[in-house]
Parts: sequence; C-alpha cells; structure tokens
Amino acid sequence: MGLLDDLDRGLVDLIFPRDCSVTQLPLDDGPFRHLSLAGAEALPRISDPRCLTCGHPFDGWLEGDRSCPHCVELHPAFDRAVCAFRAKGPVRHILHRIKYGRSPYLADDLVEVASQDEAFRRHLAGSVLVPVPIHRSKAWSRGYNQTDRIVDGLARRIPGCAVARLLEKHVATESQTRLDRTSRLRNVAKSFRLQPGARVDPARRHVVVDDVLTTGATLHACAAILRSAGVRAVDAAALAHG
Ligand SMILES: [Zn+2]
Repeated sequence: MGLLDDLDRGLVDLIFPRDCSVTQLPLDDGPFRHLSLAGAEALPRISDPRCLTCGHPFDGWLEGDRSCPHCVELHPAFDRAVCAFRAKGPVRHILHRIKYGRSPYLADDLVEVASQDEAFRRHLAGSVLVPVPIHRSKAWSRGYNQTDRIVDGLARRIPGCAVARLLEKHVATESQTRLDRTSRLRNVAKSFRLQPGARVDPARRHVVVDDVLTTGATLHACAAILRSAGVRAVDAAALAHG
C-alpha cells in the first residue's frame, strides 16, 4: 500500500500503536490492520439458515412457513441478497465510524473478514459489483463514499469480480423521516438513475453492493434500474444486515 493509503489511516496511527477497533486493546500480529483476532471473532456473523431474499438469519429452524418479516413487503427487483454480518454490536459501531467518523479505512478489515466467508464469497464471485452511490453533496461533505471503498476491496479479494460504477444518486433524500413508509420508498426509487453514458453488459450477473441493508429499499431501487437497463441477473449484497 502506498503513501496515500498510509495517510488515510490517520496521522495518529503513524505515531501511536493502533488499537483493535472492537476490543480497544493493542493490536496483535493478526492479518488485520485495525482488528485483533479476538475482535474478528467477536463480529456478529450471519450463517445459515437465512432468508433467501434479504439474507437475514432465521433464528432457529422454523418448520413450514419460512416467510421473513424483514422483506415480506419488499418484493425486491434483486433475486437474492447476502450479508456477512448483523449490523449490531461491534459491527454497528465500526460502520458508524466508517460513515460518520471519517474512518473509511476501517471498512478494509470488515471486507477482509466478509470475503473469507464462504457464502458471501460464492455469492459475489464472477459478478459485476455495482456500488450504491451517494449524492454528490454528501460525497462532498463526507469526502468519500464508503461503498466505493468496500466494492473495490471486495473485487480485489474475490475471483472474477469487476467493478462498474453504473449508478448515480441525483436527488438527495436526507430529511424524509416525517414521511410515511410508502412515500419514503417512492422517494428512494426516484433518487437513483443510470450514470450518463453508462455501458451495461446485460449478459453478466450484476450485484448491487451497499454497506448496510436495512429495509432493502435502496438496493431494490438500484436493482430495478439495472433490470430496466436490460440486465437479466441482478442480485444484492451488503456487509451487514440492519
Ligand atoms: Zn428476508
């Protein structure tokens, strides 16, 4: 990694020994840059059985009805979403620091752990990864889109992946907490579009990637645009399920 990469870890890291982002203890000699082996073990991971649509884990084996309360009303434009972690505990804390704490580099360790997860890896392998974009006003104030970094990291680690920044968010959808669910979904759906001049390969499987899947509405909206552009196989993935 180069100088810029070192700089974006923060100057403090260059002067003081780094601590694990989970345990807050000094780092051991593990393979991560901001995560100890004990910290990696403490991340709440998702394993089977899980919802085949949104990827939320089923808590215990349910006989008969396997409908999922997290996506039953969604009817998503993507076929299947797979998430590596639950967005709770240390993962929620790290994601918050990535997004709001000017610490995008913390995503790299989550990406490393996620890309070693067999189900997550298999889901992404060989696909075109499409990051969920953020509005340019947010990119300007935050200085980065964390999902860009996540997607680039996944593509480096998982075989056969390409990255295509096909989408843009052309409407800011910040303050819609007062809107009802239907209005919010409609707003999200209208806020994304294809990048002008984007070249889509309809024959390849595309996976829309976000940092967190909460209601699934954002990934659905992005997937719907790719479907409209002619892509036949569209899936979704997020580091964490909220
Ligand atoms: Zn579900």
